Amino acid sequence: MDRDELLTNAAERAASYLRRIRQRSVAPSDAAVAGLQRFSEVLPEGPSDAAEVLKQLDEVGSPGTVANAGGRFFGFVNGGSVPAALAANVLAAAWDQNAALRVMSPVAATLEDVALGWIRDLLGLPAESAGSFVTGATMANMTCLVAARHALLARSGWDVEAQGLFGAPAFQVIVGEEVHASLRKAMAMAGLGRDRVTTVPTDSQGRMQSDSFPNLTAPALICIQAGNVNTGAFDPAREICAAARESGSWVHVDGAFGLWAACAPERAHLMQGYGDADSWATDAHKWLNVPYDCGVAFVRNRAALYDALNLQAAYLTPGALRDPMQWTPESSRRARGVEVWAAIKSLGRTGLAEMVERTCKHAQRFAEGLHAAGHTVLNDVVINQVLVRFGDDATTQAVIEAVQRDGTCWCGATVWHGQKAMRISVSSWLTDEEDVEWSLDAILRVAKHCQGR
Ligand SMILES: *Cc1c(COP(=O)(O)O)cnc(C)c1O
Repeated sequence: MDRDELLTNAAERAASYLRRIRQRSVAPSDAAVAGLQRFSEVLPEGPSDAAEVLKQLDEVGSPGTVANAGGRFFGFVNGGSVPAALAANVLAAAWDQNAALRVMSPVAATLEDVALGWIRDLLGLPAESAGSFVTGATMANMTCLVAARHALLARSGWDVEAQGLFGAPAFQVIVGEEVHASLRKAMAMAGLGRDRVTTVPTDSQGRMQSDSFPNLTAPALICIQAGNVNTGAFDPAREICAAARESGSWVHVDGAFGLWAACAPERAHLMQGYGDADSWATDAHKWLNVPYDCGVAFVRNRAALYDALNLQAAYLTPGALRDPMQWTPESSRRARGVEVWAAIKSLGRTGLAEMVERTCKHAQRFAEGLHAAGHTVLNDVVINQVLVRFGDDATTQAVIEAVQRDGTCWCGATVWHGQKAMRISVSSWLTDEEDVEWSLDAILRVAKHCQGR
């Protein structure tokens, strides 16, 4: 096969994989997972034909995938890929652009600029904020934290990039009890300490209680979230941002998926006050439905982000326009803006609003169906997340395992306020009403069996 045939063959295999995804089990079969052992060969001594390599990848690899690209994967918060974004990803793979500098890829830099502007607009973030593309919300959180760290320490006359944190003036870091684990990790990486934080108690939905908020006597770093990973709940941003402003504090928002609620007019009320924060971390690979991986960071104080992350070397001649790598932790990098541009261009403002609202409605339908069958829904379903419990911990765990084995859909486990629960996250553009009814029937059937009724 020449290269043309090989690429056509790859596209055919990809299309065929997606065509059949609705009919297959969401979790791969045990046999398919066991079959992956066929990849464990000794290092090949000589070359193989590229068509044979692709054939093995498809025949052995495709059955070993989780059907995340279908409409019935409800684990974690995983989106699918809207067709335009997937197709753009394929073309961009052929381009093989390095998005570090504009001179390396004018198209990557241009599409990043456009996509960042569109996201700012969609999420209601300040027009003056700087943005950057990263791998996901974990790194977006990290990116925002180093900008915050820069600004808070610069105010005390400390150059943290030059001197590090050794001997630096201390500042308070405030999080909610329900802070996402990835933000704690980002704090560990940024030298702020995973545990050296003031923790604000949260309510039954996981929202920070503003009446338990510490008195701010000096500029602090306050981390709030738009969209709790279990309940989907939003912290009271308006009150917190107002208090922060008086003390010169920095408010960072972890809005990995929740920030996208801003796109749907019916959900936009949840976003009140979030535009008053100082930095925002979000994912495009969750609710925007672009291929992995893609996260985005925004920082109101452009200089703080640039000062924290720019890199100079004689051979990296600065251009007159924005060079992507000066705003992000990485240097060489794939052109993530391409798929984001394609997704937003293909959906438009109304298409995106419809997608966000539709997934929320599906979550609502799951909650109603589960409640009607006598199961306990633990959260207020404000966006696309549902937490459900089937009797006691052991039964709930048994139901989760049986749902995953059944293969109609896939839901994961969590612990909410000391109780085992099943999470349903409806994040894929592809999920339709039939997928929801089919999955709901499967969950109820499995639960009945596990509860012996
Ligand atoms: C998913 C998620 C993260 C981490 O995102 P990655 O893209 O996996 O790095 C952080 N915070 C929240 C609230 C999330 O839902």
